Amino acid sequence: MSAPAEAVVDLDAYRANLARLRGAAPTAAQMAVVKADGYGHGAVTMARAALEAGSEWLGVATVEEAVRLRSAGVDGPVLAWLCPAGADLGPAIDAGVDVAAGSVEQLDAVLAAPARRRPRVHLKVDTGMARGGVRGADLSALIAAAARAHHGARIEVVGIFSHLACADEPGSPVNAEQRTAFDAAVAELAAAGITDVLRHLANSAATLVDPAAHHDLVRVGIATYGISPGEALGAPEDLGLQAVMTLRSALALVRRVPAGTGVSYGHTFVTQRPTTLGLVPIGYGDGVLRAASNTAEALVAGTRVRVAGRVCMDQLVLDLGDLDVRRGEEVVLFGSAGRGEPTAEDWARAAGTIGYEVVTRLGGRIVHRYLGAP
Ligand SMILES: *Cc1c(COP(=O)(O)O)cnc(C)c1O
Repeated sequence: MSAPAEAVVDLDAYRANLARLRGAAPTAAQMAVVKADGYGHGAVTMARAALEAGSEWLGVATVEEAVRLRSAGVDGPVLAWLCPAGADLGPAIDAGVDVAAGSVEQLDAVLAAPARRRPRVHLKVDTGMARGGVRGADLSALIAAAARAHHGARIEVVGIFSHLACADEPGSPVNAEQRTAFDAAVAELAAAGITDVLRHLANSAATLVDPAAHHDLVRVGIATYGISPGEALGAPEDLGLQAVMTLRSALALVRRVPAGTGVSYGHTFVTQRPTTLGLVPIGYGDGVLRAASNTAEALVAGTRVRVAGRVCMDQLVLDLGDLDVRRGEEVVLFGSAGRGEPTAEDWARAAGTIGYEVVTRLGGRIVHRYLGAP
């Protein structure tokens, strides 16, 4: 390993997770979500692997992400669901990317886009998350405007979708409320004369536990990367998912220190006895969460060891105790529980966040290496 650290991405595990999710939603089409650089795994490689594995769709947030896939030669249906003010929609529409409209203003932006193709549009409904999309009278206005443009052949309305706020809490009444609101929106669209559309509502959590939310297509992100959508749903192994990314580095310095040694900024860790400290050459500049200071663990020579003191910008220190290791010894920050490694979920717990953030933040000097490439 010549880089300070590498994110080893196991495409066989990714394909196995896609198959597992297919089994959970066998009658729906599958959209593999590769936004935010494939949740930090590398969007283009994951997109190609997903299409080869049989996913019918790709999902991203911005049209720029979609165009980047097209530029890399990835074809197949792609939906970009975010429509920022001033977004340049023309290149995406011309590249055959489906776009979303979550308000009349956003629909107007689609209609005004300088494109040679007729835009393919998915209408975004706010069924209860109060993030993107509209509800009530605003939704009726959106549907009316979209139906006019559709019947006037200025756009093709190909989908209607929404997003669940509490899918990772299967007991929450919000899930049923959102499903009901979604059905009402689909009915309103049908009353406006548009019935031949893809209806989609489910994210990873709903794909795994809420068949009533599957409809025609499920949008699966985090679970495809082998990370649990939420603690209430269980660990990845309980859900039949395999870790895809292993973040590994190597000790850059190993040294013995006496008791009473303050470690890293602010001396938030002070050794209680003589111990060995190991320096790992990545830090929050590479996306390693600083909030995991003093709490997260890594695996070194088969032993779990803890981060000692604060995570710095480019480096962090491990308390190796009496481990007999040398400079160059492998460090696994997170990977697979089955191999005894801490998981992305463990780091999330240590940092008070979610597994999504642990992998998506990674960047900086970390390089990707792919296993199981076709
Ligand atoms: C990110 C996202 C998804 C995927 O969610 P996961 O919980 O990662 O499966 C699906 N739909 C939309 C609109 C999203 O923003």
